Amino acid sequence: MPRFKKRSLAEPTLNYTQRGFRLRDGVLRLAGGIVVRPVWSRELPAVPSSVRVYRDSLGQWYCSFVVETQVHALPETGRVIGVDWGVKELATTTSDAHDLPHPEHGKSASAGLAKYQRMMSRRRPAQGRPGSKGYRHARRQAAKIQKKAALRRQDTGRKWAKQVVRDHDLLAVEDFRPKFLAKSTMARKAADAAIGATKRELIAMARKHGRNLRLVDPKHTTMDCAACGARTKHALPLSERTYTCTSCGAMSPRDKNSAAVMLVRAGLNPVGADGTRPGRPPDDQAA
Ligand SMILES: [Zn+2]
Repeated sequence: MPRFKKRSLAEPTLNYTQRGFRLRDGVLRLAGGIVVRPVWSRELPAVPSSVRVYRDSLGQWYCSFVVETQVHALPETGRVIGVDWGVKELATTTSDAHDLPHPEHGKSASAGLAKYQRMMSRRRPAQGRPGSKGYRHARRQAAKIQKKAALRRQDTGRKWAKQVVRDHDLLAVEDFRPKFLAKSTMARKAADAAIGATKRELIAMARKHGRNLRLVDPKHTTMDCAACGARTKHALPLSERTYTCTSCGAMSPRDKNSAAVMLVRAGLNPVGADGTRPGRPPDDQAA
């Protein structure tokens, strides 16, 4: 639910449309005589229609421009891929080369984070009193660590997404809903955040390059057989890593089976996954 935000506590943000700003020689001039010299992360691909200047929780300022998007078409590959999200392996796919192990950015940040959170609780101000200088310092350090972990998640996700999108025309992706894992332990919460960020990057990357991405309902994907479509009577316990079909006898690693089920549900043939295209002579399967 959206929560009421106190104006005095909200971070400042300034929005300008066409007539409110001008860009010349990399210098941004805002209405009211404000001159901003941003450090450019990359060149603008087109003339921007609006700009938002804002400050984040760490006190850093950013300019975010709105530019009409262009599709950067990539060469066709004739390959399809199914993607299943998880805790141990962040993404298991129908192609072994594109599996993504959990990068555990949250875990590597947790020691430092705990240190500053302990500091915060020691220095916590009495109710109704403003925080001390030491308290604010600790809070800022904690926020910095969290932001860094989030950026690293985004970076890992983006690099992986680029690879997946470059190598496949069609993507069948589990429509993961973050609430599934959220109710359990810390490690799973971290996985939650990482899956959310990675999925977001994959969707954005597919759109950028004009690839066909289909989101698949995750219901019962661990119970279905990718080979024959039969559903087991009971959900597999998480400890069971191998899926064995009682109808057709097919056996495969549990997450690989789920990734293949994604393909089937998206209306794609899992035989075409893993670098091969169905109905083609074998000498055409190079790469
Ligand atoms: Zn089966």
